[in-house]
Amino acid sequence: MHNETSTGVASRIRAIRDAMDEAKHPALLLVDTISSLGSIDYRHDEWRVDVTVAGSQKGLMLPPGLGFNAVSAKALAAAPRARLPRAYWDWQPMLRDNAAGFFPYTPATNLLYGLREALRMLDEQGLANVFARHDRFAEATRRAVRAWRLEVLCAEPREYSSSLTAVVMPAGHDADAFRKIALERFDMSLGTGLGRLKGQVFRIGHLGDFNDLMLAGTLGGVEMALAAADVPFARGGITAALDFLAHATQDLHAASGR
Ligand SMILES: *Cc1c(COP(=O)(O)O)cnc(C)c1O
Repeated sequence: MHNETSTGVASRIRAIRDAMDEAKHPALLLVDTISSLGSIDYRHDEWRVDVTVAGSQKGLMLPPGLGFNAVSAKALAAAPRARLPRAYWDWQPMLRDNAAGFFPYTPATNLLYGLREALRMLDEQGLANVFARHDRFAEATRRAVRAWRLEVLCAEPREYSSSLTAVVMPAGHDADAFRKIALERFDMSLGTGLGRLKGQVFRIGHLGDFNDLMLAGTLGGVEMALAAADVPFARGGITAALDFLAHATQDLHAASGR
């Protein structure tokens, strides 16, 4: 996974590719970019990924319903030899019909129109600016979390996610009880902790069509909900985030090196 959505950790895919090359490992490199494509810099060709999987419903700002595969020549050659049973997910009918400009099933045309508009929006801002915008939201969010004296779940700064931030609840406080208060009082839906993290973290999403004021509103809601839920925290998260947003230029992306 390029961006691990339950923990807010972004993998360094280029480093994984380099390690595979160094070990001369023949495996195909398959990467899920569902919560990173269009929010965090990602390079299918340059990083020599074999299969990249993406979906319409996150950074591409569309309803769910479209799936995308980018496939290397190596993966294309491996597919006909693969022995896993498959029908709907088989690439061959898609490749065959696409050659003549057709689709083997009824395509979700409404979503394709939406996709065209989403791509226009990303193009208008420019991808480098889109990535820098998300890096900036993520940094502002982490500053708020630290000022609240709460903890960002991701412990490795090189792997901070720019799509979302998972926040660790203080011991003895249930993240889902807090999320319920945020939803009921402020009509704000925060992400739940998944699997082992159930009840221990909540997640703040900052991907897709998102701007400074939306982030300010989101962090304001979190701060009010922390107080309403009697979670011990320090005030000042909003101020820390707003100070950063007001002064930060968009140069963060160049420094992130992902
Ligand atoms: C959201 C997401 C998916 C797919 O989610 P569905 O809701 O099951 O379509 C897969 N991988 C990642 C990394 C995601 O963030």
